[in-house]
Amino acid sequence: MRSYLPAFDLLVPATLEEALTLMANQEARWRPFAGGTDLMVMLEAGKLVETKYVSLWNLNALRGIVVHDAEVVINALTTYSEILASETLRREFPLLGQAAMETGGIATQNRGTIGGNIANASPAADTPPALLAYDAELDVASVRGTRRTPYSTFHTGYKKMDLAPDELILSVRLPRGRTWTRAHYRKVGTRRAQAISKVCFAGAVDLHDGIVRDVRLAFGSVAPACVRAASAEAALRGRPLDREAVAAARAALARDIAPIDDMRSTAQYRATVAGNVMEEFLLGPVEG
Ligand SMILES: Cc1cc2nc3c(=O)[nH]c(=O)nc-3n(C[C@H](O)[C@H](O)[C@H](O)COP(=O)(O)OP(=O)(O)OC[C@H]3O[C@@H](n4cnc5c(N)ncnc54)[C@H](O)[C@@H]3O)c2cc1C
Repeated sequence: MRSYLPAFDLLVPATLEEALTLMANQEARWRPFAGGTDLMVMLEAGKLVETKYVSLWNLNALRGIVVHDAEVVINALTTYSEILASETLRREFPLLGQAAMETGGIATQNRGTIGGNIANASPAADTPPALLAYDAELDVASVRGTRRTPYSTFHTGYKKMDLAPDELILSVRLPRGRTWTRAHYRKVGTRRAQAISKVCFAGAVDLHDGIVRDVRLAFGSVAPACVRAASAEAALRGRPLDREAVAAARAALARDIAPIDDMRSTAQYRATVAGNVMEEFLLGPVEG
């Protein structure tokens, strides 16, 4: 059932300080409202519990992609379309662009933000596997100050994250200078476009004379939060990238993921497809 609009407040502060001050209010929870592409769906469905919102849309401090020597800083209000338009991101962090391309349609890409995708904390979100593969860090702020945290430990369970109610995600930091022999993003959904993933995957591998020097295997939709497959990665590091090593990684993957049955898929399907997309990335298309 649709929500009753007059029950909601939306304030539009002009500065980050004003927004953080509102969010620090002890009497009422003021929740951030960025592009609204997740929140408006909840509103339409009558499922928005909190009634007070702080629009981030006018906060210039949260906009833009800044390229430094050692890192690229993607501010939280950066939309998918802006990610796709960035030459540096396309060249150096292609998994993120591929994830952005797989996110919704053009309207969603023009309005949905990277900060909102992270803070919505869906285990099926598309950018988190790419962020995990690239060792992203987050800057988070409140009236108490700013802190930096690795993205890998930010999501702690289903819809749970290391973010206090008065904290805002300011930006995502991607360290530069890392090169990968191959990197690939894959989303498996019900349709080719506009689908929530049954499994999404970001992989990057660094090969030296056919030996796996380093590897990143990150998944969405197969655990309570997006995860890096640490056991599968460990089974590959230092070994030739051959069928035997990949079979060991497939076996190890069972320790990294915990897929469930839900309205979109089954645990068994997700486990099989997670193994298949990983194998396809490492060796080429899975046979049979
Ligand atoms: C038609 C459609 C298709 C979609 N397809 C996909 C898809 O394919 N893949 C996918 O991953 N997602 C998809 N989404 C979901 C959504 O578009 C993304 O999650 C988007 O990135 C959310 O960003 P937003 O700015 O719109 O967030 P909002 O809706 O404004 O906010 C989402 C949540 O994040 C919080 N929040 C927002 N910004 C911040 C911040 N800076 N700091 C702290 N908290 C914050 C809000 O309080 C809220 O809880 C789709 C949505 C729609 C409507």
